[in-house]
Amino acid sequence: MSAEQLQLIRDVSQIIAGTTDFHEGLRQAVARLANFAQTDACNIFAYDNRRGQLVMEATYGLAQSCVHRVQLSAQEGINGVCYDRREILNVSNLGEEEGYGQDVEGWAAGFGSVLAVPLQVGGRAIGVLNLCSSDSQEIGPRALNMVLAISAPLAVFVSNGRLSEEASEHEKAQQKTEPQEIMLRGTAITGGVVRGRAYFLAGSEALDTITRKYASDVEAEKSLFQKALSVAREDTIELQQEASKILAEADAGIFYAHLLLLDDPTLLWRVNNALERRFKLRFALKVVIDEMEEEFRRLDNEIVRERLADMKDVVFRIYQAVEEIDNVTQRPKKLKSLRSTKRPIVVTRELLPSQLIRLPLANLAGIVSESGGMTSHVAILARTLQIPMVVGVKGALANIRKNDDVILDCSDGSCHVRPTRQVVKHFGPALRFHARPKVVPAAVCELSATADGTPIRLGGNISLINELPLLERYGAMGVGLYRTEFMFMIRNLYPTEDEQYNVFRSVVKDGGGSSVTIRILDVGGDKPLPYVNFGREDNPALGWRGMRFLLSNPQYLAPHLRAILRTTVHGRVNILLPMVADLDELLLAKKALRQAEADLEKGGIPYSRNYRLGVMFEVPSAFWALPEMLEHIDFVSIGSNDLIQYLFAVDRGNSRVTGWFRQFHPVVLRVIAQVCELVARHPGKTVSLCGEMAGNPLGVAFLIGAGLRHLSMNPWRIPGVRQAISQLKVADCQDILSRALRCNCDAEVVVMMHEFAEAHGLE
Ligand code: PEP
Ligand code: MG
Repeated sequence: MSAEQLQLIRDVSQIIAGTTDFHEGLRQAVARLANFAQTDACNIFAYDNRRGQLVMEATYGLAQSCVHRVQLSAQEGINGVCYDRREILNVSNLGEEEGYGQDVEGWAAGFGSVLAVPLQVGGRAIGVLNLCSSDSQEIGPRALNMVLAISAPLAVFVSNGRLSEEASEHEKAQQKTEPQEIMLRGTAITGGVVRGRAYFLAGSEALDTITRKYASDVEAEKSLFQKALSVAREDTIELQQEASKILAEADAGIFYAHLLLLDDPTLLWRVNNALERRFKLRFALKVVIDEMEEEFRRLDNEIVRERLADMKDVVFRIYQAVEEIDNVTQRPKKLKSLRSTKRPIVVTRELLPSQLIRLPLANLAGIVSESGGMTSHVAILARTLQIPMVVGVKGALANIRKNDDVILDCSDGSCHVRPTRQVVKHFGPALRFHARPKVVPAAVCELSATADGTPIRLGGNISLINELPLLERYGAMGVGLYRTEFMFMIRNLYPTEDEQYNVFRSVVKDGGGSSVTIRILDVGGDKPLPYVNFGREDNPALGWRGMRFLLSNPQYLAPHLRAILRTTVHGRVNILLPMVADLDELLLAKKALRQAEADLEKGGIPYSRNYRLGVMFEVPSAFWALPEMLEHIDFVSIGSNDLIQYLFAVDRGNSRVTGWFRQFHPVVLRVIAQVCELVARHPGKTVSLCGEMAGNPLGVAFLIGAGLRHLSMNPWRIPGVRQAISQLKVADCQDILSRALRCNCDAEVVVMMHEFAEAHGLE
């Protein structure tokens, strides 16, 4: 190899090695080649698989606009033949030669001679390199040798460059097409299956982007802090009012605690300390949050750690106040687009309680949050407001796009983003089951009746005062189950007797005119109280909960019972004891009740003895204690949710074992039927069912067949169940139940249930 050829190879190799831009490298290489060969032009064509043509990749001597635009046949013309046959073609007197017309009239017009050399990698042609001269003379051996020497490394360079270009084109094309469906997972806070459009809500992460800035005047920053604190206080009072409009039980609750936090000496000290370090206020707030986040994370207590969210909320409000003072943003955010988005599913990194309260709740379909846990305040609020919410969804912000179609399945905490048709079809029945009727026919709060005239009482399950209007709307006959625990969960301190009484009184007074069944505080397990340390329990569902918790905490039980008893003068009240396992527990609860009555009498506080007392039938042991317990109570309410959980030892909140939570298992039906039979032997005593089973129109025949004449459910389920009942005759219900009781497994019962439902026009 001549020194000249070596030099050319070295030069081109340097260009190749030194470039990060494939086309720029090629452009320099062809320029160098034309220069060395002393020709007027040098071009590289590469075979494009998709187009089936040779496409110009680089040129020296022609306009750069030809690159990628000049395309040649891969079989005809000088370059086509060279490529196709992998032959060197050295053509002179162009125009006079036959057979190369395409080249001569096209890209090569004006050239007198062309030397074309195939570019090959591993024996396969990948393109053509050519030299062109305006001269008609054949291009000489010196240039030919140079081209031959350089063609192999150039071919590899072209081949690699094309491959990576194709890969990035493919990627771009993929980005342009609709992204695929993906499924993300988190922890469901509430129940339900909903579908909606993704709406992004920014939150306290705004603090993350604040960069370190120093203040020239520390005193000015301190006074800005004071101003921001007072704006934040006003804001919190406003929020407290907004919250109490939505949640009467929340007054003096979360936001009252936030007001206290705004005066918390440690918080104030921390911010002032950061200001002393000459940080600007915004950065000082970020420093404080970062420090606290670090400290809280190290604590081995979930509830304490989740109080960090409250701290953040408060600091974020101070930050927003600073922004407002600086006129950067207007408060409160109007969230107009959220209101106009159809069924929005809010996607956020972390939702703060104050943000949740400000959302247009009536329009909201659900919430997906990247962080948060079961016991956070915002989770409790979502649960009380019955907004489907999944927390801890890693990758939500990165994978969900604005307006994406999202299905939230709160039975297992899955979020189906951009669901395919099959996925939507799969969720169809669940979406219909959980959809709340948009138009409710004028409901009447009267007894429902079977086709043969047997009256069935349908009550409503509620947790909050703001649900009271639903009773009338959906035609509930009173409150069949008032879950009192939520007002205790959304506060930071145990509410006083008077606070409890005020809330309970509203429920009794406005509870649909019929009776109200007030269930005594049922906490523990998945329902923690922020101010009680339940400790770490390996089996919380079998732990310190329900009656056990209350009996061991008379300081909570006594004022609670007094508050409930005081409501008996305002309407017909049934008092319901949760999770009673045996006679002993019942008698202890009754003793506490007698004591509460005695206390009221002593204090001259009115109450009526005209209330009914009942137990929830949820713990299997109670089945064998029921005959004795019935001597001491007026009614039994079957809590099928917990009953099934404990009958099958299957965690009702664990998505992995949902398949084992078999509501229509013959064993469940046998227990229900026998409890009904037992109660029926005691004149004047009644039995009802208030678990989720009651709200399923397909299963109601079993319950009527078992003898149940009182069911309580989410109010919006009442119209569907009422309609189903009107299609049924008691004898048919008894018949299907007796057949179901003889089955061996739930699958048989479910098939039977669907056949029955179809035959009776229930589906
Ligand atoms: C039940 O267990 O069926 C019930 C109604 O109570 P909760 O769902 O509140 O535990
Ligand atoms: Mg229960």
